[in-house]
Amino acid sequence: MIPPIASKFVAGESPAEALEHTRNLNDRNVKAILNLLGEHYHERAPADEDAEAYIRLLEDIETSDADACISVKPSQVGLDVGEEVFRENVERIADAAAERDVFVWIDMEDHDTTDATLDIFEKLTQKHEGGVGICVQANLKRTEDDLKRLADLPGKVRLVKGAYDPPAEIALKEKSAVNAAYKEYLQFMFEEFEGGIAVGSHDPEMIAYAEELHDEYGTDFEVQMLMGVREDAQTDLADEYEVWQYVPYGDKWLSYFYRRVMERKENLLFAVRAVLGR
Ligand code: FAD
Repeated sequence: MIPPIASKFVAGESPAEALEHTRNLNDRNVKAILNLLGEHYHERAPADEDAEAYIRLLEDIETSDADACISVKPSQVGLDVGEEVFRENVERIADAAAERDVFVWIDMEDHDTTDATLDIFEKLTQKHEGGVGICVQANLKRTEDDLKRLADLPGKVRLVKGAYDPPAEIALKEKSAVNAAYKEYLQFMFEEFEGGIAVGSHDPEMIAYAEELHDEYGTDFEVQMLMGVREDAQTDLADEYEVWQYVPYGDKWLSYFYRRVMERKENLLFAVRAVLGR
């Protein structure tokens, strides 16, 4: 069982707990992006197992009628084992999702996986007529070109600042430069995309900028935030926009919880307060 201190950021160990959390979110008009925790498998067996678990989750989403989609990490379904394994697993997940009318996101990981991830996204989003989404990272210099490629494809694109630490030759290292790039890319997306824009950020400045761009260009967008982060803002924004919460679950919760705490020490305080009920 997940200790109360971690349950602010992780919905539970089982799909049933993740769906229970989804029901509570849906009651607040927030939709769920379900992510089974797991990454960097170096053998085929666990990658196949997680692909199967996602396929079972898709059935649960359909039968429970939850307003939910899924988000899959490439290295969770085999990219570290080999590109072919990754392609096979992500394709069978996307095929099963299309049958059940559930949307599939593909997360973006380290910079050396970007090409393989974009290539499979391109194939699957065309095959499933936009039923697939991809994440791009504003801290990578290549993202300007990647967005031009993505503008012509169906599906959704989640813009994030970037959670990995790519080398300086290919990445922006200053926070201010990443923020400026994030805004520049948002502007491009609102101008050039017909919709399918996902603002994957907790940053009030980026969300306010997206709202401005929406007013200017009329292009629809959604906001995506992590479970346990700015939950009140999620509910407030859901009055006006589509809001999706990224909901991790599964037995590998410890390292995820540790990451949330390390990236923002206040998170530990928030978690302690949640346990104490104040
Ligand atoms: P930051 O730059 O961290 O913070 C900016 C401001 O936001 C802060 O000053 C504060 O006002 C507010 N804020 C931030 N965190 C908190 C908090 N805990 N509590 C209160 N206010 C806060 N990265 C990837 O590389 N690949 C992915 O596939 C990916 N998927 C993601 C999916 C979602 C739904 C989200 C939300 C993020 C994802 N990320 C992903 C992570 C992302 O790249 C960033 O590392 C992460 O979101 C932190 O950047 P930020 O824009 O939220 O704000």
